Amino acid sequence: MGGVIAVLGRQGAGKGTQCAMLAERFDTVVHVSTGDMLRDAAALDTPLGRRAGAIMAAGELVPDDVMCDVVAERLAALEDSGATVLLDGFPRTPAQAEALAGMTASGGLRGAVLLEVCVAEVSERMLARGRGDDTAAGIARRLELYEAQTAPLVEWFADRGLLQTVDGTGEPAEVFDRLAAAIGGLVPLRLSR
Ligand code: AMP
Repeated sequence: MGGVIAVLGRQGAGKGTQCAMLAERFDTVVHVSTGDMLRDAAALDTPLGRRAGAIMAAGELVPDDVMCDVVAERLAALEDSGATVLLDGFPRTPAQAEALAGMTASGGLRGAVLLEVCVAEVSERMLARGRGDDTAAGIARRLELYEAQTAPLVEWFADRGLLQTVDGTGEPAEVFDRLAAAIGGLVPLRLSR
């Protein structure tokens, strides 16, 4: 594997959109979104989906052990591909960050990029996007959990010299260029044909 880069940021900061654009533009960049994996599992009504569905609808977090297994399995499947993985939505708790460090112990964790957008703006964006879990109460709960559980990870990555912060406001194309520059400083990027 070409390494793992964690993409951090509040819900609604544009992580999913930007990671999908990066994976499309650059060869060997793969987008792994735990939220998408769980939504796919729920749509397919798999055991994981049945377990996660109600938790997601309430804006709560799926238990760490479940998420760590899901991510470990996906990373293992990509191990031999040479791909650079943009990990979107994981880690979300200190326990998940520790687990990720274990999964990438051989130097695979290249860094973390924090896509910075303030609470007022992400709330507005999520209300406009109107996904199933984007109710006012769901948004408030997810942002509360972000501040409590996920925001401390910014320091976790910074302490290890792994953090870069990117301004997530402005036109999507501008944000894309900033992110591509940050990620390009961590791994070689090659344009897709
Ligand atoms: P997202 O699309 O990343 O906002 O994720 C949607 C929902 O999936 C979250 O509100 C959580 O319920 C669940 N989820 C996604 N990733 C994780 C994770 N790493 N840990 C716990 N729950 C997660």
